[in-house]
Amino acid sequence: MTRKRLAIVGNGMAAGRLLDELVRRTATALFDIAVFGEEVHGSYNRILLGRIIGGATADEITLKPRAWYADRGVVFHPGKLVTRLDATARVAHTRDGEQHPFDVAVFATGSKPIVPPLDGLTTGDGKPKAGAFVYRTVEDSEQIRRAARPAGSAVVLGGGLLGLEAAKALCDLGLHVTVVQRADTLMNVQVDALGGRFLRAAVERAGIFVRTGTGAVGVRGEDRITGVVLTTGEILPADMFVLACGIRPRVDAAEASGVPVRTGIVVNDLLATSVPGVFAVGECAEHDGKVYGVVPPIWAQCEVLADILTGANPQARYRGSKLYTRLKVAGVEVASMGVVEPTTDADEVIQVIEDRRGIYRKLIVRDGKLAGAVLVGETDSAPALARWFDRADPLPPNRLDVFCSPDVLAAAADPEICNCHHVTHGTLVGAIRDGCTTLPQLSAATTAGTGCGSCRGAIAKLILQHSPRTADAAVTGTGRYG
Ligand SMILES: Cc1cc2nc3c(=O)[nH]c(=O)nc-3n(C[C@H](O)[C@H](O)[C@H](O)COP(=O)(O)OP(=O)(O)OC[C@H]3O[C@@H](n4cnc5c(N)ncnc54)[C@H](O)[C@@H]3O)c2cc1C
Repeated sequence: MTRKRLAIVGNGMAAGRLLDELVRRTATALFDIAVFGEEVHGSYNRILLGRIIGGATADEITLKPRAWYADRGVVFHPGKLVTRLDATARVAHTRDGEQHPFDVAVFATGSKPIVPPLDGLTTGDGKPKAGAFVYRTVEDSEQIRRAARPAGSAVVLGGGLLGLEAAKALCDLGLHVTVVQRADTLMNVQVDALGGRFLRAAVERAGIFVRTGTGAVGVRGEDRITGVVLTTGEILPADMFVLACGIRPRVDAAEASGVPVRTGIVVNDLLATSVPGVFAVGECAEHDGKVYGVVPPIWAQCEVLADILTGANPQARYRGSKLYTRLKVAGVEVASMGVVEPTTDADEVIQVIEDRRGIYRKLIVRDGKLAGAVLVGETDSAPALARWFDRADPLPPNRLDVFCSPDVLAAAADPEICNCHHVTHGTLVGAIRDGCTTLPQLSAATTAGTGCGSCRGAIAKLILQHSPRTADAAVTGTGRYG
């Protein structure tokens, strides 16, 4: 059988995951795979960019070093931007004038940061003024780190996940950091007003100043930024200004290829665009009117697309994702699923507040089933709640019993370490005792650490604690922990 040529446009987290799923289905026997990445790095864990601000190297967050591609016969074109696909001639055109033939193509072009039109933000050539930064790539993060000076000051625009992560990383470097958030609540997509108060208190305890209910209208400084002007007219002095106020799907190459785009590249349940042989996954894809900005839906999309492309399961369909987020943001545990506020009079709201411990839990119950939950400060019950939410199982009549149900108690006794693959402490310790004494061995045996990778440090610690072999075994098992 002749092998088809598969072109993957973009080499971010979606492309990396799609490659894993394809390799798992022995796709390299069916396709000659070529990956085009605007960035020069092998696929890396964007979620861990805060570590780059903190001083880590790109290698330390890289999920696929260049050898990974070569070892599997995948051709990786680093630093090569695809400008458009000619879907009729089946040729990918790159910015440097090259043409690469393909039979099947996948857009995995991700998102770009939104740069708001603030007074004085850009110089004559349209570039952000010195001292202003976006936060999306390794290079952005390295620039932020190079500019960060202890005892300097930074304003971060945006109090969502990215803004709080950037703020924490800068605060840890010794800067005076203020987060400015237009909404009244930090992370207002994931948490309600009261949860936001708990989150804010924890963020402030970490040393970060927070201004909510106000935005930025401009910046001060001739050649470089010296301050940020707020909607209130107040000026916050700042040596650095980090923009973390939203993302937009990258659809330029798809548009230039004549592939239909709304907010994102429009795909159906097979992740197919209306152009034959052209697919899209990840943050650039719009499915059923939704674009996603976190990895769990992207992992689900990659599984389906790999099934479709390889024929492993031609009936596989992506039906959308019920959003469940569990994060540690600026050092604070936050979990959120479904709605964060009641939407009808019949919705029941259960709130459990532990002021002293900084813990907040909220359930929204509709027709006896979990319609949403917000947890701040402690999230051990999140996986069990997510199962109720996902399966739409009836909740116990006394709703508070949810928090002491066998599922939740089991989760508290044996907490999840790898949230991406739901691998628990007990499973990992069992595998270590059975002889897995390096991270790669443990990942192969349990799949832990092969998702976003942010649990690898915790897994390494477990190996050190529970391995019968020396501590060195854990450290030499891999050159890096995410
Ligand atoms: C700081 C930060 C923290 C985050 N934290 C979390 C978290 O805790 N949990 C969570 O679930 N998610 C988190 N996310 C979101 C997560 O990183 C994204 O959902 C994920 O990276 C999206 O994967 P993607 O492949 O679609 O896009 P990306 O990872 O952005 O990859 C797209 C790649 O395509 C390249 N590209 C674009 N156009 C072209 C072209 N025409 N030709 C060639 N290459 C091209 C881009 O340069 C980029 O390298 C975070 C994101 C950031 C920035």
